[in-house]
Amino acid sequence: MPAAAMRDAVYLDYNATAPIRPEVIDAMSAAMRRVGNASSVHAFGRQARGAVETARGEVAALVGAAPSRVIFTGSGTEANNLALRRAGGERLLVSAGEHDSVLAAAAESGAERTALLGDGRIDLDALQSRLAADPRPALVSVMLANNETGVIQPLAEVAALARAHGALLHCDAVQAAGKIPVDMATLGVDLMSLSAHKIGGPQGVGALIVREGVEVTPLLRGGGQERRRRAGTENVAGLVGFGVAARLARETLEGFAGLALFRDLLEREILALAPEARVFGREASRLPNTLCVSMPGVRAETQVMAFDLAGVAVSSGSACSSGKVAPSHVLAAMGVDEASAASALRISFGWASGPQDVERCLAAWSDLHHRHNRRRTA
Ligand code: PLP
Repeated sequence: MPAAAMRDAVYLDYNATAPIRPEVIDAMSAAMRRVGNASSVHAFGRQARGAVETARGEVAALVGAAPSRVIFTGSGTEANNLALRRAGGERLLVSAGEHDSVLAAAAESGAERTALLGDGRIDLDALQSRLAADPRPALVSVMLANNETGVIQPLAEVAALARAHGALLHCDAVQAAGKIPVDMATLGVDLMSLSAHKIGGPQGVGALIVREGVEVTPLLRGGGQERRRRAGTENVAGLVGFGVAARLARETLEGFAGLALFRDLLEREILALAPEARVFGREASRLPNTLCVSMPGVRAETQVMAFDLAGVAVSSGSACSSGKVAPSHVLAAMGVDEASAASALRISFGWASGPQDVERCLAAWSDLHHRHNRRRTA
C-alpha cells in the first residue's frame, strides 16, 4: 500500500502489535544516542545501568511487583519459554486456549491441556480433577486475557486451585497488562510474562516476573546479566522504551477501559445489521478493546483482504500466526463449529483509536456483508 494510503488507513489490530507511543520513540532515540554497556563500571556504563533499572521499576509497577523480580527477555515468547521450561515442576498443565508460544513450549515437556468452557473461560472443575489425579508437583499455565477473543480468565480461582494442590502458577499476561488492572500478588500468580509491543513499546522486548522465592534456571547462558537469570548484553534502548510504555499504560488505564464504548457500539451495530453474526466470548468478561465476531458465510481471510482494500487493518484469529491459514485452536477449544470459526474476525482497539475508526470499520463490515448477501441471493 502506498505511504499516503497507509496514513489514511485505520489500524484496528492492536492485539497483534500496538503503534509505538511518540514518548517511547523520543526516549528510545535519546537512549540510542548515548553509548554504554549496562555492565561497564565507567560513567557511560553506569548511565546505561541507571536507564535499565528505571525501566525495571516501571515494568514492575505495572503489575505490582518488586523490581528485583523482573527478568528482562527478548520477547513475550521468550518469557513464556523461560517460565514453562525452566521453572521446574514434574507435570505441566496448560489451558487449551493458550498462545502458541505457551502451547509449543509445553508440548516439548508433554504437557496436559485443560479444557475451556463455551464462553472461553477455563473449566475449573476439569483443572481441579487433573490436579487431584496426580500428586507430582505441577506447573500450571493460564493466560490472563486471550489474544483472539479478549476473554479474561478467573485467575484468582485458578491460583487458589493451584495453591491447594501445591502447584506453581504461570500467567501469560501479555495481552492483559496495560489493558486492565493487573496485580501479581492479588492474583496469586508465581510467574508472569509481559511484552512491550502490546502496550505501545518496542517489538522484541519482554519480561518474566517471578515471585519472591521462585527461581528459574536460565535458558540463555553466558554473562551474568539479569542476576544470572538471562545472559546477554541488555537492549538498553528497548528496555527504556518498555519502561516508558509501562508507565504510560499505567497512567492511562482508566482511559483504556473507555474503549469498551467503541467495542460495544461496533458489536451492537454489527448485530443489528446481521443478527446471525456471532460474537465469541460475549458471555464472559472481556478486554475492553477486543471484538471477535463472525460474518457468516465469508471466510476470515476474505474479510481481512476486503477490509484491507477499504483501508481498515484487522486480523483473522491469532495475528501472531497470520500468513498460515489454520483454524483457531482457541475457538475450537470453545466448541465453536468449524464454519463459524473460519469466518471469525478480530478487531482490536488501542491508545490511538477514535470514534471515526468505529465508523470506518462498521462501513467496511456492512459493505462486505451486503455484497456477500447480494451475491448469495443473485
Ligand atoms: N502471549 C500472548 C497472549 C500473545 O498475544 C503474544 C503475541 O501475540 C505473545 C504471548 C508473544 O509475545 P511476543 O510477540 O512478544 O513474542
